[in-house]
Amino acid sequence: MSLIDLRSDTVTQPTLGMREAMLRADLGDDVYGEDPTVNRLEASLAERLGFAGGLFVPTGTMSNLLGLMAHCERGDEYIVGQQAHTYKYEGGGAAVLGSIQPQPLDAEADGSLDLAKVAAAIKADDFHFARTRLLALENTMQGKVLSLDYLAAAREFTRRRGLALHLDGARLFNASVALGVEAREIARHFDSVSVCLSKGLGAPVGSVLCGDATLIGKARRLRKMVGGGMRQAGILAAAGLYALDHQVERLAADHAHARRLGDGLRAQGFEVEPVQTNMVYVAIGERADALKAHLRQHGVVVSAAARLRLVTHLDVSEADIARVLDAFAAFA
Ligand SMILES: *Cc1c(COP(=O)(O)O)cnc(C)c1O
Repeated sequence: MSLIDLRSDTVTQPTLGMREAMLRADLGDDVYGEDPTVNRLEASLAERLGFAGGLFVPTGTMSNLLGLMAHCERGDEYIVGQQAHTYKYEGGGAAVLGSIQPQPLDAEADGSLDLAKVAAAIKADDFHFARTRLLALENTMQGKVLSLDYLAAAREFTRRRGLALHLDGARLFNASVALGVEAREIARHFDSVSVCLSKGLGAPVGSVLCGDATLIGKARRLRKMVGGGMRQAGILAAAGLYALDHQVERLAADHAHARRLGDGLRAQGFEVEPVQTNMVYVAIGERADALKAHLRQHGVVVSAAARLRLVTHLDVSEADIARVLDAFAAFA
């Protein structure tokens, strides 16, 4: 029996077409700027998102770190969500490696940061305080899509207050597919955007940081500093290019599968949060360990969590969703 892994959209296997693209990629030494495939990926994603430049990096964690460090100097501060990946799940890198102080705020139910609360957190120009320099948002945020109206308001607000605006767009394309708009309609509100190729897009490795030429120049120096300069990286960039060409529109199928899973679980009496993209959150409470063990016997892999996250992706089919629902039904 094949396993259905719902822990994350990072567990996908590269498709055959993707592997062929990797096999055939033209390569060079990217630290010399000579890998044509890396250059093509950076230029094409930057163009697609409306930025002057892009920088290919191994991970989204590094991409966010370079973005934050390119905007903020030692002793600066960035405002960020309490549950944001950048703040909570990246080893405190901005503080440790960038000497950037985070000012976390509780997010609203829709995943946004209330701009009135952000305004109240901005420090006055006073030598007692860190210098508030940047607002960092995340989209999608735990599967939720920030509205275009909110993004426009955040852009207007940060411009007025002299802050830069960074997007952790690990799942930017899930947001764009869910809204039915081009990704640049989201990206245009930001000074920098980090996009993961290794989440729903299905590449094995890689993220791209996009921004203007100055920001990307700074980020390139910082990437070397943190040890992220790679050589014939085009073999990886080829996977990213393939994903952008062939595996963006299909995210709609992941969203449909997630909705179907959410509806099915609700019908079984589970408490399910509204589903917007490829994530289904289910309140499991103290039965989490028992559920995980039960599902594993039915070939379904999940993390044990009271607020269980189920993530659909490229390697989960419609038939798999039916199997998952059967497995849950046997538990209930
Ligand atoms: C996965 C993820 C990252 C970091 O990506 P890695 O490649 O795992 O370092 C950043 N932000 C969000 C929202 C993510 O889900």
